[in-house]
Amino acid sequence: MAFVDLAAQQARLKPRLDAAIQGVLAHGRYVQGPEVAELEERLAARVGVAHCIACGSGTAALQLAQMGLGIGPGDEVIVPGFGFVASAESVALCGAKPVYAEIDPDTLLLEPLALEALITPRTRAIMPVSLFGQCADMQAITKLAEHHGLAVIEDAAQSFGARRHGRASCSLSRVACTSFFPSKPLGCYGDGGALFTDDEALATCLRRLINHGDAGRYRHLQLGMNSRLDTLQAAILLVKLDDFDAEVAQRQAVADRYDRLLAALPLDRPRLLPGNVSVHAQYTLQLEGRDAVAARLNDAGIPTAIHYPRPLYRQPAVADPACRLSVCEAACERVLSLPMHPYLEQGQQERVVEALGDALRGA
Ligand SMILES: *Cc1c(COP(=O)(O)O)cnc(C)c1O
Repeated sequence: MAFVDLAAQQARLKPRLDAAIQGVLAHGRYVQGPEVAELEERLAARVGVAHCIACGSGTAALQLAQMGLGIGPGDEVIVPGFGFVASAESVALCGAKPVYAEIDPDTLLLEPLALEALITPRTRAIMPVSLFGQCADMQAITKLAEHHGLAVIEDAAQSFGARRHGRASCSLSRVACTSFFPSKPLGCYGDGGALFTDDEALATCLRRLINHGDAGRYRHLQLGMNSRLDTLQAAILLVKLDDFDAEVAQRQAVADRYDRLLAALPLDRPRLLPGNVSVHAQYTLQLEGRDAVAARLNDAGIPTAIHYPRPLYRQPAVADPACRLSVCEAACERVLSLPMHPYLEQGQQERVVEALGDALRGA
């Protein structure tokens, strides 16, 4: 059993993927080819924003968003203390300071009530992370940010395709960033990412930033990056986008089935914030004795993952030794992600749940 089964998806799409890849090889515009522009148009239309700018990775998107907003040394950006390192890393790469905020114990999303106390004269932005496939309370966060004159940057690396009160993830903030890493809900066959914004001036700036700050004809207005999405990856994503809605529906069915099968076990199933439709990037439980249970599942041949084993402020690269956030720390001890992908079959899920029941009983 695979934790994320990319081979099952590839088998379905193979003829269309082959044709798309051959199409790029035939025209030879490997960088900034026509498929990139087509993808950007389709993604922007789907999300419902004016501008999508494809780039080299989700991490680069986060860094580019902050460069575009002029965030740098001396500035602070508030990020959740629990999550993937890239959110905080992108702040530090800009020379700014990540300031860690507490999360909600049920959803593991940024807790809006924790934010006010962290805002200082140096705060420039708040970066809610749409973790495991669902958005944080973007309305409450945006209201607070507007009150203090701060930007909101959605880290939507795990939530492309999700909705909050009917609006798409990636359309809920000044600028949003997603990732096309292979195992994300919409993944390519390498690294890739994209930025979304309604702000035309910011979009123009981001287009320069992905390409060495080039305003055209080798006129380099500002320091940028080399962070463009490969044309081959765009062609692959265009094929995958055709099946994306069906895959999101299948993810929902898989999550619903886990919810039913796990209802009787002594653990906390993933909880959605009211108003959210998740893309179920991960199916992440919380339970006591997590390490022993994970070891027994491993012995039973069930792949699991720990998203994430330590708070970001305890990661040496982005550490804040004075920081202590009890909900983030408890989550790191309790989370366990089960196999999750659109092609997971009922029989496989039953095996996972049976092994999990045995593991919880200490068998
Ligand atoms: C995957 C991920 C990223 C980084 O995306 P890459 O494309 O791998 O650089 C950033 N934030 C979160 C929450 C992620 O899950």
